[in-house]
Amino acid sequence: MPTTLPTIEHLINGQRTAGGTRTADVFNPATGQVEKRVALADKLTVEAAIANAQAAYPAWRNTPPLKRARVMSTLKVLLEQNAEAICALVTAEHGKVLSDSLGELQRGIENVEYASYAPELLKGEHSKNVGPAIDSWSEFQALGVCAGITPFNFPVMVPLWMWPMAVACGNTFILKPSERDPSSALLVAELALQAGLPPGVLNVVHGDKEAVDTLLTDARVKAISFVGSTPIAEYIYSTGCSHGKRVQALGGAKNHAVVMPDADIPNAVNALMGAAYGSCGERCMAIPLVVAVGDATADAVIAGLKTEIAKMKVGPGTQASCDMGPLVTQAHFDKVKGYVEQGVAEGATLVVDGRGISVPGNEHGYFLGACLFDHVKPGMRIYQEEIFGPVLGVVRVKTLADAMDLIDAHEYGNGTCIFTRDGEAARYFTDNILVGMVGVNVPLPVPVAYHSFGGWKRSLFGDLHGYGPDAVRFYTKRKTITQRWPSAGVREGAVFSFPSSK
Ligand code: NAD
Repeated sequence: MPTTLPTIEHLINGQRTAGGTRTADVFNPATGQVEKRVALADKLTVEAAIANAQAAYPAWRNTPPLKRARVMSTLKVLLEQNAEAICALVTAEHGKVLSDSLGELQRGIENVEYASYAPELLKGEHSKNVGPAIDSWSEFQALGVCAGITPFNFPVMVPLWMWPMAVACGNTFILKPSERDPSSALLVAELALQAGLPPGVLNVVHGDKEAVDTLLTDARVKAISFVGSTPIAEYIYSTGCSHGKRVQALGGAKNHAVVMPDADIPNAVNALMGAAYGSCGERCMAIPLVVAVGDATADAVIAGLKTEIAKMKVGPGTQASCDMGPLVTQAHFDKVKGYVEQGVAEGATLVVDGRGISVPGNEHGYFLGACLFDHVKPGMRIYQEEIFGPVLGVVRVKTLADAMDLIDAHEYGNGTCIFTRDGEAARYFTDNILVGMVGVNVPLPVPVAYHSFGGWKRSLFGDLHGYGPDAVRFYTKRKTITQRWPSAGVREGAVFSFPSSK
């Protein structure tokens, strides 16, 4: 292993810094080569970041909200100006095609834009004369030091779901990005410094369980936002809560798309192609399952998907002509391939087999072609478990009620959608389905930045969803003040009954 590889360092108090003796390899998934190393923070390094965030908090909390918001407005411009460099890092470390990296960045920028409205969102509530000469108001105060732990699959967008609103609300923040693709979040944090964020307000520590556990257990950290897989989300939620923190932990998914017999099948097929295979299926809102109502619907959907898959181009994300890049790591590639083998062994019909594709010039990349299964059934592992790869399964049912029963019985409830032209069916579906984000003829119903994002069931642990209005509530504490200025000289006797307006 050459020793000249660059090391991605932490950003603490506005300075890039090493910290910890351990490092992890960062691969380019399109080539299979290690291109960088990332420092893995030890406990002491994370504690130093927490101390800096703690020290920066009083001045930042008392900075007028409008001034904090202006940093976000400037950052938005800097992100737009540096989009090419940021997306190049995302594609180099994650593998997704550049147009997809740009889409993710744009969604992140929209969260920065929403955070710039913080002065309006923090205005609070006021009531005059709640009693004789008594006024009352509620305000939303910052919590202190908050932390965010993010997944590999949206390395630039998911951090932007968290820290811009947290700091716009007056908190300071420690971000722990995924160690698999850490560079873009670090570059964005440096742009935030350039935009005027004071050192220490946003710190970035890279790392693994040791860094995360330090954040989860240190009493100075008041709130934790997590996005990642369900087993880790559950661990983060229970550990963080038992250490007295406010926690929101967004987990995994297995999103079903229902296709009704009256759906516009060619449009549904096109929508499913992007939703199933975009970003190589590595999206928590991806569609890995189609529930086709009626055999004729299933046959038509499968025929359409087969035709479209044959046109797809798989290759390095840097090539504009490619639709789908590689999976993120060799280990993940092996896992996804293992699921395809499992599906065959379980008796599902492998209609399109993407294993064994070769990308000339990138023979060592983690490329898996689109895979399509028919006759997938509940109980099969490829039905139950999150695969997080380019593997789409079709389940055949007879009625909409059957489809909804399947979705409701699944442990995850992140996203779902229905393709239909029947308004009554769509309305019944959106009203009753036990899922947090629902699309009607929209395959990826990812809420815009001024709504909030979150699943139901085992896709989210905690009460408040991510970003949007819920983020303002998550990153602030309500304080209600009741104030009276009695006229001088007026004397009142002691009152022993509970004060009321009767
Ligand atoms: P992951 O759970 O492996 O890792 C997420 C974060 O947790 C990383 O920063 C990682 O360093 C840290 N981590 C991993 N193992 C840990 C441990 N044992 N203790 C403490 N920290 C640990 O997830 P991933 O593979 O990076 O991302 C993919 C997953 O994220 C998928 O399950 C996907 O559905 C989910 N996801 C969910 C959403 C959502 O909004 N619900 C969005 C994006 C991704």
